[in-house]
Amino acid sequence: MLSVSDAQAIILNLVQPLDNQQDTEVVELLAAANRILAMPVTSTLDFPHWDNSAMDGYAVRYEDVQHSSSEKPTVLQIVEEIPAGYQPKSTIEPGQAARIFTGALMPAAADTVVMQEKTRREENRVFILAAPKPQEFVRHKASFYQAGTELLPAGIRLNTSEIAVLAAAQCPQLNVYRCPRVAIFSTGDELVTVNQALQPGQIVDSNQYALAALVRESGAEPLLLGIVKDEPAALEKVITHAAAIADIVLSSGGVSVGDYDYVDKILESLKAQIHIQAVDIRPGKPLTVATLPAPQSVKDAMNRVSTCSPVYFGLPGNPASVLVTFWRFVLPAIKKLSGIKEGWEPVFLKVRSHDELRSDGKRETYLWGKLHLIDGIYEFHKAGGSHSSANLINLAQTNALAVLPPGKALISPQEEVQVLQLIIP
Ligand code: AMP
Ligand code: MG
Repeated sequence: MLSVSDAQAIILNLVQPLDNQQDTEVVELLAAANRILAMPVTSTLDFPHWDNSAMDGYAVRYEDVQHSSSEKPTVLQIVEEIPAGYQPKSTIEPGQAARIFTGALMPAAADTVVMQEKTRREENRVFILAAPKPQEFVRHKASFYQAGTELLPAGIRLNTSEIAVLAAAQCPQLNVYRCPRVAIFSTGDELVTVNQALQPGQIVDSNQYALAALVRESGAEPLLLGIVKDEPAALEKVITHAAAIADIVLSSGGVSVGDYDYVDKILESLKAQIHIQAVDIRPGKPLTVATLPAPQSVKDAMNRVSTCSPVYFGLPGNPASVLVTFWRFVLPAIKKLSGIKEGWEPVFLKVRSHDELRSDGKRETYLWGKLHLIDGIYEFHKAGGSHSSANLINLAQTNALAVLPPGKALISPQEEVQVLQLIIP
């Protein structure tokens, strides 16, 4: 059976990033958080824009004050006061200084700022009580960033710090990739919505909610197509429609070996290429990954959002399997598709296990739980209760998955364990 890492390699190979010409849009800076930059950004502004003071103090000529001390202070004539935001009027001549405040423009011919604490003021004169270093406390024009050079590269996610940089560089609008579109539907005759009364044998379609939240968290747009019966005609219709409107299609259920598991058969009849039918993972073994042919009809072609073949993930129906296979396989695919340049793969951390962790020693096993910070070291606490793939109740509050590789049936308390971090970076 396909190993988890081979499956991941196949999946990442199938996914093509959005096009940096066609699949982009312009957004306002305030709406740009979490979006992926499609074009590198350059600014016409130097940073700092001008030579300015890093301190409240006095702008001086270094040569005037280089021998100053508290015993032999240099006395300078104050010729001007320069608050932040005002343009200096004077040129500082030998024996002169300007009173200056943090962020204010340096006056002509001054090259150094003496901090206020190292001076004494007497009316229009200032006593310099200590020798500064040459050019001390001057922030030089363009020393942080030079106009015209690359400020931010394409293919990065715009988080808080990038938004601040773009604001400072006066970039009010950004060219970003459009959000990937991810169609989601659930399969199963037993499924009802959260609002329908349960009849005997029925179960609530929680997967649709889980997947919608996961997709949105990943920065993509979920397109919810509802619950679909275990009927070939209904499945064929929804898969065809999903392929016409989405970059990625996610279904849950119907990919196992049961008599009512039709998804793979329908994919074959639609001439999809099936790349994966099972992975050596627990939970989540019956995972189907396929590429659907580009839509044929004119109407579908016009509705298509991308020229690439949509990638189909037939996730197993069990709720825990859905979450684990999404985090392990679908999220990297969405990241690559979204235009992010690198870092698609999940992040694994080496931490200490608080609990004994067990697997059957055969399949790569994922156990859910929580990372706690104990004396500055992360410790994995396995969720209490059943780790059956049908149980999702104890998945609440999960922020990490512990991984037991094939061949490793036991991790003892206090032993090191690899965990998959579930925060989306
Ligand atoms: P299947 O893969 O279709 O055989 O489904 C496996 C198990 O997952 C069955 O017990 C289903 O009832 C359950 N299941 C399937 N789809 C969903 C869903 N959308 N929400 C919650 N449980 C589901
Ligand atoms: Mg089913």
